[in-house]
Amino acid sequence: MTTFADLNLSPKVLKAVEEAGYQTPTPIQEQAIPAALEGRDVLGIAQTGTGKTASFTLPMITRLARGRARARMPRSLVLAPTRELAAQVAENFDTYSKHVKLTKALLIGGVSFKEQDVLIDRGVDVLIATPGRLLDHFERGKLLLTGIEIMVVDEADRMLDMGFIPDIERIFSLTPFTRQTLFFSATMAPEIERITNTFLSNPVKVEVARQATASETIEQSVVMFRPSRRENAAAEKRALLRALIDAEGARCKNAIIFCNRKTDVDIVAKSLKKYGYDAAPIHGDLEQSQRMRTLDGFRDGSLRFLVASDVAARGLDIPAVSHVFNFDVPSHSEDYVHRIGRTGRAGREGKAMMICAPADEKNLGFIEKLIAREIPRGENPLGSRPAPEAAPAPSEDEGDRRERRKDRPRRDRSERPDRKDEARGARRPDDAERSTEPRAAETPAAEPRTTEPRAAETASAERRPSEARVQEGRGQEGRDRRDRRRRDDSGPAVVGLGDHLPTFIEKSFEERMAG
Ligand code: AMP
Repeated sequence: MTTFADLNLSPKVLKAVEEAGYQTPTPIQEQAIPAALEGRDVLGIAQTGTGKTASFTLPMITRLARGRARARMPRSLVLAPTRELAAQVAENFDTYSKHVKLTKALLIGGVSFKEQDVLIDRGVDVLIATPGRLLDHFERGKLLLTGIEIMVVDEADRMLDMGFIPDIERIFSLTPFTRQTLFFSATMAPEIERITNTFLSNPVKVEVARQATASETIEQSVVMFRPSRRENAAAEKRALLRALIDAEGARCKNAIIFCNRKTDVDIVAKSLKKYGYDAAPIHGDLEQSQRMRTLDGFRDGSLRFLVASDVAARGLDIPAVSHVFNFDVPSHSEDYVHRIGRTGRAGREGKAMMICAPADEKNLGFIEKLIAREIPRGENPLGSRPAPEAAPAPSEDEGDRRERRKDRPRRDRSERPDRKDEARGARRPDDAERSTEPRAAETPAAEPRTTEPRAAETASAERRPSEARVQEGRGQEGRDRRDRRRRDDSGPAVVGLGDHLPTFIEKSFEERMAG
């Protein structure tokens, strides 16, 4: 069996690895580290949880230990798609370089340019940045990329989702072609393949098993959920979630609860809190500082339940999660694999439970096809009868009330003009988040390009950088407003009357029917 000592890392790095408590290298580390130490380009196809961050940081630290940084000319560059991921990479550097004298700077939004300029001016060995912020610094003339010896692109597929590829290409072209490139992506979309063919030179390709095959330690189940009445569906589903959590008891140390929509992330978190569960939401509309606080709390164990949407949670390193609850069946099968991969890590036991409403059975079928196995049907802890809403109505919060109004039966459906549209394939509610604004819309900390530091960083952070550029100087305010409206996840796109039915229509209709 290969050990870290076999990988040619410097003794100081080995010491830090030992202190981190790692015993053996993960497959991606075993394959990528020797190649990276030789100076080869590496193309790593791996997801978070595989140890990929150490697979590039460890050889980088070993190589950078020789040589010195010059003012404004960083020696290495790590690009990450979001602030959280960039911060995570920076933490990894701190852990593994604690016995080596290296300087580093983290260039992300939300931190003043001035502070970052001071660091760059002094000269850094490692620059960790989101693409937008890096280019902002570059354009302000504060940074030279001609001294880059090693460049890392982390989570490239997510950069693609977020519209960062043009920025990545530009950054590549600003660095010397003699640089070493370490490139990581969970998937190889054609666009990613094109980039690697253009900018990587004879890379060593390292592919580690997808989480679907690596997660044998995850016990999966799905509970088929039948609401008593359509209008009770949302509340009963939340009651079922609580019952599932309760049934696990102390075995459920902590959990991530995934919802398909941002609105549901908020509602479920609020509802859980109301019932005395220690829960908090994470999604892209929340303030950066709040997201960081929530994540820190979840990591250090002071928060037990993290209610999340796919995009917000993707790529975040959250170790040791005992349970994953899928409040909704994901409408994209591969998201199921990502979600359940949050538990059962590094050989630990984990449980993944999913609630499947009648409308989600088709998507459940797609997931089972993807993972090539049937997910065992779990028992409904509330029995076969529909779950009652246990909470006394007066304590109901506004979120719940709003939700229930939305779920009111649409008795006049056949009269509504949207029927044909639905038949033609208009969006279904579960697809709302993605189809109104694909993935990027809900990105946790997408970094738009700015020319000046922006006070309301988070509000504009969700925009694709290319969009941000187009908007410069032209009717900015109106566009921003329109953009915000588009990004606002208020459920499915409105077709006809949408979900909102004015009360007076329903009333007169019922009265006439009764008469
Ligand atoms: P990553 O895929 O880089 O996000 O890493 C996932 C987690 O695995 C992080 O919490 C690392 O600290 C941890 N880790 C990385 N390498 C090893 C290793 N060789 N042994 C045990 N844990 C590791």
